[in-house]
Amino acid sequence: KPTAIAVGRFAPSPSGPLHFGSLLAAVGSYLYNKQQGGKWLLRIEDIDTPRVSPGADSSIMFALEQYGLLWDEQVIYQSQRTERYREIFNQLQQQGLVYGCQCSRKQVNGGGGLYQGTCATLNLHQQKNNPTPLSWRLHAAGVACHFIDTLLGPQQIEPALAQEDYILLRRDGLFSYQLAVVVDDWDQGVTEVIRGADLLSMTPRQQHLFQLLGAEPPLYGHLPLAVTAPGQKLSKQNHASALSNWPVSYTLARALAILGLVLPDELQQAPAPEQLIYALANWRPANIPAAREVITPDFG
Ligand code: GLU
Repeated sequence: KPTAIAVGRFAPSPSGPLHFGSLLAAVGSYLYNKQQGGKWLLRIEDIDTPRVSPGADSSIMFALEQYGLLWDEQVIYQSQRTERYREIFNQLQQQGLVYGCQCSRKQVNGGGGLYQGTCATLNLHQQKNNPTPLSWRLHAAGVACHFIDTLLGPQQIEPALAQEDYILLRRDGLFSYQLAVVVDDWDQGVTEVIRGADLLSMTPRQQHLFQLLGAEPPLYGHLPLAVTAPGQKLSKQNHASALSNWPVSYTLARALAILGLVLPDELQQAPAPEQLIYALANWRPANIPAAREVITPDFG
């Protein structure tokens, strides 16, 4: 039996240019995958159309190329896969795993931010001409509260969060990230998901959804998340400074150092592809610091 090839991916949401936090995820997943001789895919997670910033996809791709992070195969866009998500959604609905929910975001936030299953037994149906459309949630009681992280080891997730009945189809008619990410990772044959620790707590629900679909979940490993101060996520939403303000070699050297590889002096300012070649030969996943966060105020 031929050994299956490792398939990794980088899956940015195009809500702005590449920022240092997503660069860390890109570099970590690239090195992890390419050291095994795998395929590294790029998927543009533009499912949340109201948050898409026009042109951000090409600006992210341009940045990745500058860092020498060259992906394999065609880029997938979630916005073009609605029919596939609908097919999977219908299948889950036929299995009796989905229910309509009339609660507003405000109501859910008032209840502590996690959905309490208020509509789970109401058997709500979408009325024609209903001024308040329903959102559609998954019955998630079967989700585990623990998993083994490939990079961090055993992880426990708060049961109320792990087993929250999360949204599959939003009231505005868009499929959720939670549904799309699993369907895409499955369809693209992803075998390892290496990403930022902000998504660590979402892992059990994603593994569970794989199982509901009759598929084998990939490995999940989480990298330290770049923050400007403890708990302050650096993201496109809080205007993380564009990476283009910094020399490519400097930024890549910083990212590698955070992932546990300090480049020798003579490579600190070398072209990014040379830095990557050194990293491919010398980086070890075991050297990634186990921290969930790394403070990088200069990139904030
Ligand atoms: N699109 C997500 C983000 O940019 C990442 C999804 C994932 O890696 O699973 O935060």
